[in-house]
Amino acid sequence: MNADLHCHSTVSDGCLEPAAVVRRAHDNGVELLALTDHDEVGGTAEAAREATALGMRVVPGVEISVTYREVTVHVVGLDVDPENPALRANLERVRSGREERARRMADALARAGLAGTFSGARRFARNPAMIGRAHFARHLVASGVMPDVRTVFDHFLAHDKPGFVPHHWADLEEAVEWIRGAGGIAVMAHPARYCRRLSGAALDRLFDVFTAAGGEGMEVVAGAHSPEEVQRFATLARRRGLLASAGSDFHEEGESPVDIGRCSPLPPDLEPVWSRLT
Ligand code: AMP
Ligand code: MN
Ligand code: MN
Ligand code: MN
Repeated sequence: MNADLHCHSTVSDGCLEPAAVVRRAHDNGVELLALTDHDEVGGTAEAAREATALGMRVVPGVEISVTYREVTVHVVGLDVDPENPALRANLERVRSGREERARRMADALARAGLAGTFSGARRFARNPAMIGRAHFARHLVASGVMPDVRTVFDHFLAHDKPGFVPHHWADLEEAVEWIRGAGGIAVMAHPARYCRRLSGAALDRLFDVFTAAGGEGMEVVAGAHSPEEVQRFATLARRRGLLASAGSDFHEEGESPVDIGRCSPLPPDLEPVWSRLT
């Protein structure tokens, strides 16, 4: 089964419109896709229409930004009802902090010598309510300041770099509750990304809180995971009896390490989360 259960469109910080994401997935042999824009389900209807036209399966998804003990963590919701009123209202509240955050980011970058980045980033954000770090990074690459998006993150936008500003997103328990309340399955996104700030016992505690809240899955295969990290998180998924998910986290050709539909396979003994997506 070629399943890709994590990707982005222009509705958040991807570079393809939802229908184009679906077409790319179809061209790349994907059989089951989830569009998981950050804090927004506005692209799921267009994705569903395109998938129907192509005879491909797509489930509505979302990737919710969470603050857990001052660390940003992402929780993917799979097969959520995009019309669920509580989910929609709560996601809107999470999004509502982004413009003010972006202004603070631009101020911080100005202090680091980079002027005019709010209007610059704004031009890259097709959905202005979803302006985020990727749009700042693309602006700084397009204006010739930095060679590529990764370098911008490494120098300016990663945690503790000059353009990073703390922000409080959703709480972990509430994000899981919104997903479950909308009929979805909550999946911990790209766990290896948290290891720098949550190690050993702290990472275990994150999963304790997540599963106690009703979280059921984990991305074992993720665009950001090395083969060693896949093995490490496969072990964790086995130990905790979590459903295993796989997603490219595709945003843009040349920017994302893994293309849509080009994830490595899950270790065969794990229970894939798509066994629950009927
Ligand atoms: P935000 O929600 O505004 O904090 O932006 C988070 C997004 O920035 C992620 O979903 C990725 O699209 C992008 N991102 C985060 N870290 C990196 C990185 N090291 N390299 C490239 N893109 C990154
Ligand atoms: Mn992103
Ligand atoms: Mn993420
Ligand atoms: Mn993502």
